[in-house]
Amino acid sequence: MAERGRQEPRRTARLLPGAIEALRMGMGGIPIQRLGTGDADRVLEKAVDSGINFFDTARGYTDSESKFGRVLSRLRQKVLIASKSFSRGAAEMRRDIETTLGNLRSDYVDLYQCHNVASEADLERILAPDGAVAGMVRAREQGKVRFIGISGHKPRILVQALERFPFAAVQVPANFMETDAMAELIPAARRCGAGVIAMKPVGGGNIRETALNFRFIFVNGVDVAIPGMDTEAQIAANVAALDDLSPLNEAETARLQAEKERLGERFCRRCEYCMPCPQGLPISFLHVLRNYYFVYDLKEWALERLAGLARTYRDCAACGECVAKCPYHLDMPAIFRETWEKIQADRRPGTAQD
Ligand code: SF4
Ligand code: SF4
Repeated sequence: MAERGRQEPRRTARLLPGAIEALRMGMGGIPIQRLGTGDADRVLEKAVDSGINFFDTARGYTDSESKFGRVLSRLRQKVLIASKSFSRGAAEMRRDIETTLGNLRSDYVDLYQCHNVASEADLERILAPDGAVAGMVRAREQGKVRFIGISGHKPRILVQALERFPFAAVQVPANFMETDAMAELIPAARRCGAGVIAMKPVGGGNIRETALNFRFIFVNGVDVAIPGMDTEAQIAANVAALDDLSPLNEAETARLQAEKERLGERFCRRCEYCMPCPQGLPISFLHVLRNYYFVYDLKEWALERLAGLARTYRDCAACGECVAKCPYHLDMPAIFRETWEKIQADRRPGTAQD
């Protein structure tokens, strides 16, 4: 772990040079897609009232940017808004930035990121003279983008990116289950002066020891975490986690280790890169229900929700489309078949979900 990890972090971090300090607990914009406009407004207002001032969304998150814009455009100087785009060429990137600004109802975005740069070829493409970064640099010159960032799931690629372009911030999965970023990427970001944003900081909602987990990642060099939140209770609990950012003691580390063993290797981070499924399966939600059924033993709860789904484990046609798109190479046909068989074998007569 980084030596920096020995220090106790403050509640706020200077994520972007010259910008306002960010509360270490930011907000990710994926779950808000599921809310209606009124509920989304309420959740965002609660986040702002709770001190959250860093909000991360993406062009790819359907109406998330627009929902952010409805509330956050009124508070423009008090918040930092980040978005990102999968565009790899300069012209498409500039078009996406314009769309983002329209959605955010703002004439600038604080941080714009190349979304999920996943390979060396991808990196070459965005850094090419006509690549996405060139488009972002132009937008920065025009005052439309304040800082340029990058996101991805592979720390090795992101280290290369930092060596080749002065990205202001790097966004990567980081939680006690996924610690790869702490070995090389976070030290590289420190050397380059780039901020570190933890995506999937609670493992896509799978991690239950959330307070210990947040302490772990902040102590180990993460500047800001962006858990996806769609309830006021989640916001309150996550912000409260900042009250104690001391390093973990032995007993607390053992609790995280026990959680790691419970979750196992096959855990879905709910990034939704695998979507859509041609058969209409809500893939990440099915992973969540699997965890609730088998890992947390909330069987009735999981069965009730399964019963409300139009398509579930047994409807997987094993086409493999999602496997090819999953950055963690989860084998959905095998996992879903096994899950279905185990639930069938396990459930009592009369609790059928079909
Ligand atoms: S393998 Fe199954 S879950 Fe994955 S895309 Fe195909 S049908 Fe959907
Ligand atoms: S199955 Fe893979 S791609 Fe799909 S949500 Fe889970 S981790 Fe992400």
